[in-house]
Formats: sequence, C-alpha cells, structure tokens
Amino acid sequence: MVEPEYLPKVAVSACLLGQNVRYNGGHCNFALFDRLNNYIEKISFCPEVGIGLGTPRPTVRLVNSPAGIRLIEPKSGEDYTQKMAEWSELQSDALINQRISGIVFKKGSPSCGLERVKVYSEKAHPQKNGTGLFSMIFTTLYPHIPAIEEGRLSEPVQAENFLARVAMMDLWWKYEERGWTRSSLQQFHGEHKLLLQSRSPNAPRILGNLLAVNPENKTMNELALEYITGAQEYMGHNVEKRYVAAALRRAVGRLPKNLPKSQRAYLHAWIDYYSKGLVPRIASMALIQQAYEMVESEHLPWKRLFEPFNIVSGVMAKV
Ligand code: SF4
Repeated sequence: MVEPEYLPKVAVSACLLGQNVRYNGGHCNFALFDRLNNYIEKISFCPEVGIGLGTPRPTVRLVNSPAGIRLIEPKSGEDYTQKMAEWSELQSDALINQRISGIVFKKGSPSCGLERVKVYSEKAHPQKNGTGLFSMIFTTLYPHIPAIEEGRLSEPVQAENFLARVAMMDLWWKYEERGWTRSSLQQFHGEHKLLLQSRSPNAPRILGNLLAVNPENKTMNELALEYITGAQEYMGHNVEKRYVAAALRRAVGRLPKNLPKSQRAYLHAWIDYYSKGLVPRIASMALIQQAYEMVESEHLPWKRLFEPFNIVSGVMAKV
C-alpha cells in the first residue's frame, strides 16, 4: 500500500477555503490556497459555526463594555463571549493535538481577525483596534504557532516568511515525536542557525545560550517549548536584506576549503548584486546551493536556510 504523502498541517478559517460558512451564507475563497495544495495540508475551522450559530445568521461584533470586550449579536443583544471562549480553548487544543504548524485567520472578523478588528461602543465610532475572540485565545495559548491573516499572505515577502516559519514548526513536531534530548535540541538549533541569523543576527547566540545554560533547569520538553517560542518570535521579524546577505556570506564561508578562490569570489559578487537590489535573493541562493552540491557538502545550517525558499520559489513566484 502506498503511504499518503506527508505535508505540514496548516489550520485555515473555513470561509477562506471556499466553504459557505459566512454570516451571509457565502464564502470568501482565497485563491492562493489552491496553489499551496502540494505544500500544505489544510485543516478548516469556523468558530461561529462551531458555537452553533447557523448559516446564514445575524452578524456578531466586538463591543467594548464595562465588563471588557464582548462578542455580541446586535440584533438580539445575545452575548456569545462565554460560549466562544469555551469553544476556542477546546478547539485550540484540538488543533495542537493535530500538530498544526501554522494558522491562517480571516481578517476583520470578530471571531477570526488577528488585528485591526472593529470594536464598537455605545458612545463613539467603532475603533479598529480589536482582535477576534478565537484568534486571541489561540495565539495566547500557543504563541509558538505561526499565525497570519490572509491579507498578509498576498504580500510575497510575508508569505515567504510565514512558509519558512511553518517549515521550521513542522520539523520541530517531527523532532518532538522522537522525544527531546539535549543533543536533539542542539541539533535542531544547529540546523536553523543560518535561517535564524537571516532574520535576526543575535538570535542564534541567544537561543544557543538558552540551550547551553538552561537557566531555570527546565525539563527537555519545557526547554524545547521555550526554544521554539523564542525562535518563532525571531522568525516573525521583517526580512532585512542586510541580515539575509550576512547569512548567505556565512554559508559561503562554510564551503569546504577546496572550493577555488575565484568561485568563492563569484558567489560573493552575486550576494553583492542581491544586496544592491540588482538580482533576487533566489539567484544567489541557487548559485550557493550549486556550489555545495559540487563539493558534495551536506551542511545542515545551510540546508534549512535554503529549503523554505525552495517551497516558495515554486509557489510565490506566481502570486
Ligand atoms: S471569518 Fe471565521 S467565523 Fe467568520 S465565517 Fe470565516 S471562519 Fe467562520
């Protein structure tokens, strides 16, 4: 029997996957997900259907009240806050039990939106400063899972970064399945050093120290969780050319000594072209990868720096 292909799991607001679960009985299909079919397994969720609201249904909204932010159906005045909070905790745990490596939320929704969700109050105009109830509870409980709104996925750089974070999280689950030890944690860190450096130059050192010192004498599982939470936070930083260029130069520096000097200089020249915005990153990365293949070097830190972009170069180039 042929085993089904394993893909990283990403949870997605159901309406973005074309499911007719919105208040108006419709959907808001997000076409990018069709292009990601070969790269991720999608798991849908709909908090409002989850708490038993029908489709179609009256709208709900976030309302600022003396008791804090509430999820209210304005038509009837019904308060769904408690019900949504309970469902959200259970659903968040269920998604983690399925080992999701990322989550995509529908923007603007009082249940799913991650940021700038309208919050209504009696006296003033609505303020766009809220967070959907489910997304708030999920991201509070599981801050290490990469989360994004679909609007940001339309921006290639953000989409690429999100997929790189998903790839990191997916590998973390695979390691976890085998059980964390001090050496497996060190190996995971070693594999991601350059990728982390490409987002934040100090991240490899700070996270490396955490593993070496384990200041609070945590169990290996607790230490692994603290590590991935920190690593994902660094990975959430904006991608800056100078940091990526520095990581690429380090990757060239780690090529075996038998690589001719002229070829090393050629690779550095292409990193300069990238730094000046003359060529895309993928061009210099492809050349460096080719150099690694030529000298038959399986350098793990380099591998993780490249792999996420492999995924993206096949998908995001078409966005
Ligand atoms: S935004 Fe969230 S709650 Fe609203 S329809 Fe989509 S999945 Fe359901």
